[in-house]
Amino acid sequence: QVVTRFAPSPTGYLHIGGARTALFSWAYARKLGGKMLLRIEDTDRERSTEAAVDAIKDGLSWLGLNWDGDAISQFGRADRHAEVAHQLVAKGLAYKCYCSPEELTQMREEARAAGKAPRYNGYWRDRDPADAPSEIAPVVRIKAPQSGEIAVNDHVQGKVVFKTENLDDFIILRSDGTPTYMHAVVVDDHDMGVTHIIRGDDHLTNAARQIIIYNAMGWAVPEMAHIPLIHGPDGAKLSKRHGALGVEAYRHMGYLPEALRNYLARLGWSHDDDEIFSTEQMVEWFSLEALNKGAARFDFVKLENINGIYIRETDPAYLFQVMVDTAAEVGRSVDHNGLVANKATVLAALPELQPRAKTVLDLIDLAQFIYAVRPLTIDAAAAAILSDDSRALLADIVPVLRELNDWAVPAIDAEMRALAEQKGLKLGKLAQPLRAALTGRTVSPGIFEVMVLIGKDASLDRLSDQTG
Ligand code: GLU
Repeated sequence: QVVTRFAPSPTGYLHIGGARTALFSWAYARKLGGKMLLRIEDTDRERSTEAAVDAIKDGLSWLGLNWDGDAISQFGRADRHAEVAHQLVAKGLAYKCYCSPEELTQMREEARAAGKAPRYNGYWRDRDPADAPSEIAPVVRIKAPQSGEIAVNDHVQGKVVFKTENLDDFIILRSDGTPTYMHAVVVDDHDMGVTHIIRGDDHLTNAARQIIIYNAMGWAVPEMAHIPLIHGPDGAKLSKRHGALGVEAYRHMGYLPEALRNYLARLGWSHDDDEIFSTEQMVEWFSLEALNKGAARFDFVKLENINGIYIRETDPAYLFQVMVDTAAEVGRSVDHNGLVANKATVLAALPELQPRAKTVLDLIDLAQFIYAVRPLTIDAAAAAILSDDSRALLADIVPVLRELNDWAVPAIDAEMRALAEQKGLKLGKLAQPLRAALTGRTVSPGIFEVMVLIGKDASLDRLSDQTG
C-alpha cells in the first residue's frame, strides 16, 4: 500500500508551495488507494506554534486535502529518535563526539585554509570513548561512508549522485538528547510506513544524508520525488507580491478551493494540454513521472482566469455560502448581513453575476446593489455618467415606470424601448444612467433584471434620489 506524507514545519501559515506539495502527495495516495499522513515537524520549539498548526490544518481542510488518521507530532517522538540513535551507536555505525565548540571552530578554519568546504574531520570516529573528557556532553554522529557515492533515484530529478567526500559525519542527536531534523525525518518516515516522499527539491541534498541513515539501519529507502520550487513570473524566488502567501490569503482574496486546486495542480504537473479539470480527473491522471523538472512560474492572471471559470460554472447555492463566509471572514459585516437578509434575491441574481466576476469578492461587490442603502454610494465612473442631461432623462423615465403595473423584464423592456424611440435615443443611452442610479456602478446584470430583482418601490426610490 502506498503511503505518502505531508510534513510541514509549523512556523507560519500553510504557504502556497506547501499547499502544492500537499496536493501532489494527496493526489498520489488517492490515486493508488493509499494513505496520506500528516506529520507536524515541530521539533524547533522556539519557532513552532499551535496557531501555525491550526492554520496549516485549516488550509489543508479548506483545500479539501484530507489526511488519514491523526496528525503526528514529531516532537512527541523524541524518545524514539534518541532510541534509534543509540541503536546505531551500539552497532558501531554512529558514535559519540566530544569535540568542544573551540575544536569545531578550529576544524572549520583548517578546512577553509586548505580550500575545502568546512566539515567535521571524523576526530572521534575511531577514538576510544574512554578518552572522553568528562565535562563535555557528547553529540551523536553517524558514520558516513568515506568513499564512493550516494545516489538518489528520484522520480522527478532522475538519478542524482552525491560524492560521499562532501558528506561528513553529521550529527543525528544533539548533546541535549534531541534529534536533528535529518535524523527525525528518517525515523518518522520509516516508522510511519511512508513509501513515497514527495517534497520540494530544496530537500534533495538532505535526501543523500538521509539515505546514509536508512542504510545504517538496514531500512528500505522510500521512493522519492523532489519537485522544483515555485518561482515568480520573473523567474526569481517567489515573493509576497507575486504570490508567496498563505492559503488563507487566497481564500480572503476570493479564490475558490477547487479553482486553486486546479491551478496548483497545473503548477509543476501536466496532463496533455488540459488546463481545466476536476479534482477527480486530476487524481485519475496523476503520476510522478508527469511532474515537471523545470521550475514552475506563479501567474496571478492565470489563477484569476481559472477562478473566473469556476465561478461561472459553480452552483449558486454553494457560491452564496462562500460569499457569506468570505464576507464574514474579511470583516465586511454590512455585506455579510445584506447577503444573509436577502438570500432569495441574491440567489436569483447569481446567474447574472457569475459571468461578470473573477473572484468571490467581485461577486460580493456585484451583489451590493441588492441590499444597498439609500442614498446609494455612487462610484466615480457612475458619477461621471450622471450628468445634468442624464438626470433630466431619468426624471422623464420615472413617471413611465410608476405607471407600469406589470413589473417584469419584458414589460419594462417594452416601455423603455418605446421611450427611447420617442426621444430618438439608443436604448443604451437610457440604460447607462439607469444603471448608475440604480446600482451606483457601471457594471451590473441587465438593468431590467436589476429593476425586477430590487422591486418597483426600491427602483423608483433610487431613481428619485438622483432626480432631486
Ligand atoms: N518540514 C520540512 C519543511 O517544511 C519538510 C520535510 C520533508 O518533507 O522531508 O520543509
